[in-house]
Amino acid sequence: MNPSAWSIAQIRAGLLQREFSAYEVAAAALATVEDCDSTIHAFLELTPQLALKAAAALDARLAAGEELPLLAAVPIAFKDNMNFEGTHTTCASRMLADYISPFTASCIAKTLAAGALPLGKLNMDEFAFGSSTETSFFGCTHNPWDIQRVPGGSSGGSAAAVAAGLATVTLGSDTGGSIRQPAALCGVVGFKPTYGFVSRYGVVAFASSLDQVGPFARSVADAATTLDAIVGHDPLDCMSQDCMIDFTASAKRGAAGGVDGMRIGVVRSFMEAEGVSDEVLTALEEAIAHLAGLGATIVEVELPNAKAALSAYYVIGPCEAFSNLSRFDSIRYGYCDPNSRNLDELYELGRAHGFGAETRRRIMLGSYLLSSRAYSTYYYPAQQVRTLITQDFQQAFEQVDALITPTSPRTAFRFGEIADPVSMYLSDIFTIPINIAGNGGMSLPVGPGKTSGLPVGVQIIGPQFRDENIFVVAAALEACYPDIARIAPVDGRVTESCYPDIARIAPAAPTAPTAPTAPTASTDPTVPTKPLNGRGGV
Ligand code: GLN
Repeated sequence: MNPSAWSIAQIRAGLLQREFSAYEVAAAALATVEDCDSTIHAFLELTPQLALKAAAALDARLAAGEELPLLAAVPIAFKDNMNFEGTHTTCASRMLADYISPFTASCIAKTLAAGALPLGKLNMDEFAFGSSTETSFFGCTHNPWDIQRVPGGSSGGSAAAVAAGLATVTLGSDTGGSIRQPAALCGVVGFKPTYGFVSRYGVVAFASSLDQVGPFARSVADAATTLDAIVGHDPLDCMSQDCMIDFTASAKRGAAGGVDGMRIGVVRSFMEAEGVSDEVLTALEEAIAHLAGLGATIVEVELPNAKAALSAYYVIGPCEAFSNLSRFDSIRYGYCDPNSRNLDELYELGRAHGFGAETRRRIMLGSYLLSSRAYSTYYYPAQQVRTLITQDFQQAFEQVDALITPTSPRTAFRFGEIADPVSMYLSDIFTIPINIAGNGGMSLPVGPGKTSGLPVGVQIIGPQFRDENIFVVAAALEACYPDIARIAPVDGRVTESCYPDIARIAPAAPTAPTAPTAPTASTDPTVPTKPLNGRGGV
């Protein structure tokens, strides 16, 4: 059995009927990762002892007659920028390759309190800079639908693990699209809440005014349940907010036809943007037609300043990253270069050899942009643009209840296909404006693209703090695609469900996976390779 291929409701039903114990779920889920992850490389570390301990504790709670908590026995895994006491938290960087967390991030702690079983830590772009997971020091993660392609990024491990049936749900972080873009490329649901709904405490900061944690799942309902477990005010994150939304109820309302009478906005300039592939546009137009068919009113809206979002992001993001990453100085944290002969060399060589190229690029950029002359030319205007974009969204949401746009301009690309950093940055043109404004956004899979056969996602955006609208629209739309495969075969095998009732098991991959050609480790031959699936585990 592979419980990681089941839905949260199925796991719950099995536990209630005593078909299996939480301990059995943990053991089976861990065995599937051991068996299948060498092809995908979604995991950087497996935590069998922690999963089995959590399962035994849950079994004891149930034996004592306690009610099942929200995420009872749900196999879960976390992006490797989330601190989890006793595990490595590497941010997929050489800089933190040996760092072991002395504490646990609030988002992880909440899932554990809700009864989830922690399988391990997931691969990502180094420090969350990237859109393909190719910048990981520990090697790429492969897209389960075609292992010669990227899973997206930066939360590529989180998306691939769910798509391959290696976890029921996972957590990722999204600063400019890092949950939604990999969700789209891997054909799963990925949700970035309104800024402040999920605590950032214990998540290694990239850009503090943009970072948000959110779930990956194979259904809107599972994303909703996971979110219900992790949202809410946390005294340890000064920007965190109370959240009164019942996401599970919103998803149920949507699935029961809840979009009738809703106004849904389409952004013409996004659909006409350069570089959007025909198959992405076709899938978006089909989704819009489904919503109209369900009784929603489709309204054209404009976001006139959104075209400046990418430029503002690549000023604000690097500035905040430069400041946040200053702590990695080889003294307080991080890789110490053995060849350094004095204090200056300790800093210089530690950063030169501890950080990868993209991370160094962001730090250099941020350092320049915050210098006194560049500040008024770039940083200050970028903040003004941010205000204008936020106002654009506010005005749009006076006319509509939700927006629908493409998530990513195109489907999953091949390893190495996008070598130029600026072209890579364009992967996020539709997701970045939402982080800039602070709203919530979800990527929902709408089936294989007509040309590539690879997953396509649409993005649903809601007004700030009204993320329930997104779940209503997404659940209604999801019901229009009952036959979409949500679990990709690994090595030709589907990590099968013992419950035949879910129609979410792939009949076959759109592109038959062949031997991987992508690098599975850093291309720098002098760099030691971290073994797949772990470092002994916790
Ligand atoms: N791809 C974007 C970047 O590299 C977004 C990353 C993210 O959301 N963490 O900055």
